[in-house]
Amino acid sequence: MLSGKVAIITGGTRGIGLETVKVFKLNGADVVLLGSKKESVDKAIETLKKEKIDVEGYYPNLNNPDEVKEMIKKIHDKYGHIDILVNNAGVSAKDSIDNTTYEDFVKIMDININAMFNMTKEVIPYMKENGGVILNTSSMVSIYGQPSGVGYPTSKFAVNGFTKSLARELAPFNIRVNAVAPGITKTDMVASLPEEMIAPLVKTIPLGRIGEPRDIANAFLFLASDLASYITGVILSVDGAARS
Ligand code: NAD
Repeated sequence: MLSGKVAIITGGTRGIGLETVKVFKLNGADVVLLGSKKESVDKAIETLKKEKIDVEGYYPNLNNPDEVKEMIKKIHDKYGHIDILVNNAGVSAKDSIDNTTYEDFVKIMDININAMFNMTKEVIPYMKENGGVILNTSSMVSIYGQPSGVGYPTSKFAVNGFTKSLARELAPFNIRVNAVAPGITKTDMVASLPEEMIAPLVKTIPLGRIGEPRDIANAFLFLASDLASYITGVILSVDGAARS
């Protein structure tokens, strides 16, 4: 489904991102994965190698526009085109507002929103050459918020606004911009959340289970592929109908 395409995936070292790397590779794309540290990038590349999947990886500071620009240019110089960007890197929050500092809040915005802006801004000039697909990672909490950790849903509402607006701005260049809004998905991010936050949420899932990373990766695959060539500006819920 992605034969001949070049994809960059942020937060590609584990969880939803790593699964998306696999699914894109299995569908014929060349994939560059990004992570926050050399060790996690090396580990992901090693894990994939054991499954006979070859990718390269980088660990730029996604909040440094110059570093991001230089890396994107390097990738473009090597492959000649950049077709797909998946902005997947993200951090969650669980504390009450009383226990959230300004610095905590800014940290979430930096990775969940500002990094997405940097990456997107730098790939657009290259995508304008041949068209492209930008995919962002929202969340079901972008629909109804969550009872604590206010920075996280705030950032995901922003992801939706960014997605819908850029879809309109970039449509004339045949660049599609969509987001996937996962429900609770079995990754390290969820493992770090307290049980009292997860259990009541699981009870609200009509399909009766937590999502698997593959469920989300498959949605990215569809939206990245030409099967979705008339879809842009959409926030696709992949949450077993858990949204309310
Ligand atoms: P995860 O914690 O397993 O992985 C997060 C990824 O983001 C890692 O690869 C990590 O290296 C990267 N990352 C974190 N901080 C970074 C930084 N400062 N710089 C660069 N990279 C950084 O999480 P996941 O569950 O796979 O989540 C992936 C995305 O899906 C996130 O955007 C998250 O908000 C979203 N999401 C997850 C769930 C869920 O239930 N797991 C639900 C809805 C949305």
